[in-house]
Parts: sequence; C-alpha cells; structure tokens
Amino acid sequence: MKTLFGGPHTQGVGYAQGRRSALGGLPSAVYFQRSGLRVSELCLGAMIFGDARSVGATKEESRNIFDAFVEASGNFIATANTYANGMSEQLLGEFTQDERDRFVLATKYTLNRRATDPNGGGNHRKNLVQSLEASLKRLKTDYIDQVHPVTPSAGGCEKCLATGDTWVHLRLCRVCGHVGCCDSSKNKHATQHYHTTSHPIVQSFEFGENWGWCYTDQTYISLSE
Ligand SMILES: [Zn+2]
Ligand SMILES: [Zn+2]
Repeated sequence: MKTLFGGPHTQGVGYAQGRRSALGGLPSAVYFQRSGLRVSELCLGAMIFGDARSVGATKEESRNIFDAFVEASGNFIATANTYANGMSEQLLGEFTQDERDRFVLATKYTLNRRATDPNGGGNHRKNLVQSLEASLKRLKTDYIDQVHPVTPSAGGCEKCLATGDTWVHLRLCRVCGHVGCCDSSKNKHATQHYHTTSHPIVQSFEFGENWGWCYTDQTYISLSE
C-alpha cells in the first residue's frame, strides 16, 4: 500500500502529498488524496511522543512539539497503536481532547502487539477490531480520520525474489510495506529502499522479533512489549 504522506520519522515531520488548496484557512493546506479533507502540508509524526528511552520525548517535550505544530497551523497528525507502547496515542488523546474535530488523526493497526501471539498483529478483522478499540480509548475519541494497515509487499525480499537471489533476514518498511533484505544480505535491498524513497523506518520481518530501526536517527526502536 502506498503511504499517504512521505517521510515521517522519529523527529516528527512528513510532507503530505496532494494538490495545493487556496481554501481552507490553512496557509499551506493541501488536499488529502481524494478525501476532500484539507490538511497542513506538514504532517506531525508522533512516534516518539512519550517514549521513555533516550531518543524519545517526555510528555512535556511532546506537548511543546505539539503546540509549536498547532501554532504553525498544523492539523494533520500520524501515530500508530504500538508507538512508545501506546503512550504516543495516549498523549495525543490528551493534547487533542479539547479540539478533537479540528485535527485529522491517522493511526495504524497492523503492527504486532504481542510478540508470541501470531494474531497479535496482522490485517485480519480480529486484530483490526481489537487494535482500533484500544486506539480509540487511548486517543480519547470515538472516531479516527484515517487508519491504515502496513501490508507487506511480499512474503520474501521483493527484489531478490524477482531475480532469484537469496537473503539472510527480512525487513519491512513501516511506511509503505516494502519487504527487503537486511544489510547482512548480499543485496541490502531494505537499505537501498530507504535511499530511494526516504522512508525512514523498518522493522524486523522475522517472526517473534519486535524491533525497528530508524535510518534518519540511526537508532533502534522497540515496537511493543
Ligand atoms: Zn517504503
Ligand atoms: Zn533483497
């Protein structure tokens, strides 16, 4: 699946792709694909909100980032059910509570929430319903403007499969679902994908592994318990 915005990474901004709007009251609003919604050209990626590790932002820092974004007419925010083990959604719920309707909130549901449970993630209905119900509670809202699954593009490294090559381990792009091979593999297709697309975050596509890597910040990310 194609991403709806390019390049949100752990520092928090991505660019919406769409037709510029002269309407809507936002200085740099663009149409959000074909939805008719008008979103700020900058999308705030809230992945590090509330993340307790050294690369993350405390609640106070997150609030400052959020306020600066809103001050600059930002209205488009993306998070995911597993970011900072749910703390990202929880803080966004607090921050957006008073003016929920003016924000276009996006979250994701595919990511695995329970390392040893094969149904703890995935695009099936069971996970969709469970993840969304939990997200709604954390976000303190009864609706989400956009939900998107991260659908793996293939069962193995897309490019190696096409050329008959082999790989060592697999990485999944969390922005678009591209499956590529790791840096121990001959072709390093996951890293190549980052250089071509600037999609900054990959996660291990090996069963039972719940870590990610941000190319932009050169740091490991813990994705869920
Ligand atoms: Zn990608
Ligand atoms: Zn490959």
